[in-house]
Amino acid sequence: MSPLAEQLLGVARGMTAARLSVGTAGNVSVRDGAGFLVTPSGMAPERCEAADMTEVAADGTARGRRAPSSEWRLHRDIYAARPEVGAVLHAHAPFATALACQRLDVPAFHYMVARFGGDSVRCGDYATFGSQALSDATLAALAGRSAALMANHGMVVLADRLDHLLDRAIEFEMLCEHYWRARSLGEPPRLDAAQMNEALDQFRWYGRPRPLDPDTPT
Ligand code: 13P
Ligand code: ZN
Repeated sequence: MSPLAEQLLGVARGMTAARLSVGTAGNVSVRDGAGFLVTPSGMAPERCEAADMTEVAADGTARGRRAPSSEWRLHRDIYAARPEVGAVLHAHAPFATALACQRLDVPAFHYMVARFGGDSVRCGDYATFGSQALSDATLAALAGRSAALMANHGMVVLADRLDHLLDRAIEFEMLCEHYWRARSLGEPPRLDAAQMNEALDQFRWYGRPRPLDPDTPT
């Protein structure tokens, strides 16, 4: 099996280790040429081998020894609509899912909301798991964003590269926990549009380790 399949399995196991998912809940994929590799349906990552990762072509044709994740349409549609995305994680992470079950958007309560592309992270409409309707609703909620909640279900997080995906998903779950905790004391004050725009500007450079340049003010 390809090194990419090994890496994908590593991220799926990391999702469980980080308590973003338990058992068979959730799925992970990585772009591979014109298609993608995705975790198999109904298998806990701890019980998978790299050879259980399934190839799905852009037209939805699957190849491998296991049926692809039931959410393969969601993964396929994200890669088709978002050329900058290289990897996708869907999980039933506890705090994200609690907010999704209340059908709450994550508002501009913390500057880290901007990390996910805008002044909120939206919660998409409910649809049955594995359905085209769920893919459509989630893609709409993701417009201009790299994360979304899925009503009465969970979360989806996008990254440019597979090796950034787990960190980004953990950050998003932590942001949901922060909102959940802050909200338990009352609805927190919001940052205004100018403050969020400044945070969005900062994220154009923040998060890319760079050498110290003594001539440039930090
Ligand atoms: P799969 O096991 O088919 O990936 O499904 C898990 C899930 O979370 C469905 O939404
Ligand atoms: Zn799910």
